[in-house]
Amino acid sequence: MEELKILQKTEELHEARWWEAEANGRVHCYLCPRHCHIHPGQAGFCFIRTNQNGKLYNLGYGAPAALQIDPIEKKPLNHFLPGTRVFSMGTAGCNMGCFFCQNWDISKSRSDQVHSQHIPPEDVPLLALKYGCESLAFTYNEPTIWGEYVIDICKEAKKYGLKTVMVTNGYITYDAFHDIYDHIDAANVDLKAFTENFYGRITLTHLQPVLETLEWLKKETAVWFEITNLMIPTLNDDPTETRKLSEWILTHLGLDVPLHFTAFHPDFKLQDKPRTPPATLDRARQIALDAGLRYVYEGNIYSDGANTYCPECKELLVRRSWHDVLENRIQDGTCSKCGFAIPGVWINEAKEKRGPKHGATASAGNYGHLNL
Ligand code: SF4
Repeated sequence: MEELKILQKTEELHEARWWEAEANGRVHCYLCPRHCHIHPGQAGFCFIRTNQNGKLYNLGYGAPAALQIDPIEKKPLNHFLPGTRVFSMGTAGCNMGCFFCQNWDISKSRSDQVHSQHIPPEDVPLLALKYGCESLAFTYNEPTIWGEYVIDICKEAKKYGLKTVMVTNGYITYDAFHDIYDHIDAANVDLKAFTENFYGRITLTHLQPVLETLEWLKKETAVWFEITNLMIPTLNDDPTETRKLSEWILTHLGLDVPLHFTAFHPDFKLQDKPRTPPATLDRARQIALDAGLRYVYEGNIYSDGANTYCPECKELLVRRSWHDVLENRIQDGTCSKCGFAIPGVWINEAKEKRGPKHGATASAGNYGHLNL
């Protein structure tokens, strides 16, 4: 009988991967393109990778600061097990410095500034099953920075036929890329803009490494992935930029990668910009469709642009309202009217491996305080 072991947070440190020792007790973290060189007693840019006596530790390991049950459409993923629930978790810290961050309360915090639980990897799938989820999502802050925990959770998740999802800014080095993504089933990658100027000024990072990650996903993995572009008035909503972004996706990733244009709301350090008008998202969607992309969505607003249509016969296949699936007419991965194959992951074939005892034996008393 499995037993959940949700404990109070401990001070036990988990040694990190993807680092090397340097002179004078410094360490070099090469998990993401920032390549932090960290002095003893200090943390990297992301706050949660710290040098203690010449070794790098990950303070996010086993310490989620946010836990929630979400619809998979909220990630957003529209071609991955539609209508299912996903057990979603995030920690403190982030490796980008986005002025518009909508989860800044945890992403801009050190691990000792947030209220986190101690949940060992083997307990995460049990919680997910208890709440009727088909997948686990590493989300809210940047999961790359707690990649060691992600990998160990994924290994446990496979035992139960649960899928795994990265919701990511794509800022990772090739050294770590396969170590993490070889365990992942699906991803949503934020392509926050298509100019180096935006990435440099507004996210404190660079565009090119994100584009490289997208190409690695396409060419070197079987991960199902979709792309999100959060449109911020006057900063990244120029039609010329949208056209270039769409054409880059078409050329480098193909016409079947779903693209989500989502609405911004003022948050964190970006309070002086208005909410994205729905007309901006409509225009962006039309530009991307005209460029040749087949599956283009509008998010964070109520719109017919949230629906999936057959690119061949134009039949409405999946009707959505915000994050709710109201109707799904995809049959065996094809259009129910003309039979055209719609790319995506429509069933969880691994579900069959799940034994009847799994998930049913978790004791409510052990996690009731999580209030999910
Ligand atoms: S993961 Fe964190 S510590 Fe490592 S290079 Fe990136 S920002 Fe720096």
